[in-house]
Amino acid sequence: MVAKGDMVYAWSTDADILKKGELGGAVTTLQKYALESGMVDAVLAVKKGQDLYDAVPVLITDPAELADTAGSLHCGTLLVTRFIKKYLDGAKNMKIGVTVKGCDMMALLELAKRGAVNLDNILTIGLNCGGSVSAVSAREMIADKFEVDPDAVHKEEIDKGQFIIEYGDEHKGISIDDLEEEGYGRRSNCRRCKYKIPRQADLACGNWGVIGPKAGTVTFIEVCSEKGADLLTKAVAAGALATEAPIPKGIEIRGKVENAMFKLGDKWRKNDFAALSKDLWGTIQKETSRCIKCYSCVENCPVCFTVADELKGESRMITSGEIPPNPMFHLRRFAHISDTCVNCGQCEELCPMDIPLALFSHAIRAESDVAYEPKLGEASYNNK
Ligand SMILES: Cc1cc2nc3c(=O)[nH]c(=O)nc-3n(C[C@H](O)[C@H](O)[C@H](O)COP(=O)(O)OP(=O)(O)OC[C@H]3O[C@@H](n4cnc5c(N)ncnc54)[C@H](O)[C@@H]3O)c2cc1C
Repeated sequence: MVAKGDMVYAWSTDADILKKGELGGAVTTLQKYALESGMVDAVLAVKKGQDLYDAVPVLITDPAELADTAGSLHCGTLLVTRFIKKYLDGAKNMKIGVTVKGCDMMALLELAKRGAVNLDNILTIGLNCGGSVSAVSAREMIADKFEVDPDAVHKEEIDKGQFIIEYGDEHKGISIDDLEEEGYGRRSNCRRCKYKIPRQADLACGNWGVIGPKAGTVTFIEVCSEKGADLLTKAVAAGALATEAPIPKGIEIRGKVENAMFKLGDKWRKNDFAALSKDLWGTIQKETSRCIKCYSCVENCPVCFTVADELKGESRMITSGEIPPNPMFHLRRFAHISDTCVNCGQCEELCPMDIPLALFSHAIRAESDVAYEPKLGEASYNNK
């Protein structure tokens, strides 16, 4: 019997999931148990698409198919939760289990605040996240820095501050700090992120804190809600998962890693925002002058979709059919999300003109909320 606030090491008793899972396969096993037991009607997760760099969202109703979703895809950031609003009617009529990174969780909360999803019907299994790497950048980085053919890589992972690839019988790791100094590495919004353990999900799962003989083979779970406690308790009672108490030193190390990630996030914010502050308005004007008004930033934002029609429409300063639009188009959008941007990075990631939109909106968000200082280990998200 576990309760909210508990922490455990956990691993799957299903040999296939244990083998395919990133660590102990606990996340996949919990999703499978939730589906089999009727706690949810379907599971939303991701699985490998064309290649290792391609993460594809999948909705699963057959528990036997869940093993295909096991494993972490560090090059895929899809903002999985927006699919719940877009294609699943906001989980208003079905119960959904979903695997979420911190940005997915924050987006889900913003969607819920706007009435676009029903959180009561959503079971969230959170993944700690040190950050993800864009697929294009990962391929370039592997070819240029690792001097390996990206198509020869069969596994990538981020461990102990290194980006590691496995190809043939070999493996190679390079420090993420070194890669990032040279412009490779994690997405820029991930570098600035300070929501590393998604404690607003029902469970937060990761590898930080697993030390001793089980290092690298089990999942560290922090129980964050009654719903999460109920799922874990029942999955263990049914024999789907095995657990043991974490080594206390491991919990201490986990806290230190989280703290170090906070500091790294601060370092990147200082760096990115300082560069921007030299000529904020000039930079925004120059970068947004490439805008072709495809509206991808509006449509994929978990916050400003509620005013999409207004943002897309004509106004005193914005004329239909004119590109680039008057900068007021972007300023209106920034204003709408100024106190709620979750730094998911989708506006920038999906912009066909490579405009650093996430940097602009995150800088505005961070600047507008200076009085609030996040504290280590607190439950609410603080990725302002
Ligand atoms: C981008 C990324 C970065 C991570 N960084 C850290 C870290 O720094 N520290 C840490 O402790 N843990 C990190 N994790 C979590 C860790 O890699 C494991 O996912 C976690 O420990 C659960 O292991 P498991 O064996 O129980 O998961 P599995 O049983 O293998 O299940 C993995 C689940 O994650 C889903 N998934 C895979 N890739 C993604 C993705 N890109 N977005 C959303 N869902 C996805 C799968 O669909 C599946 O549901 C990261 C995960 C990801 C995806």
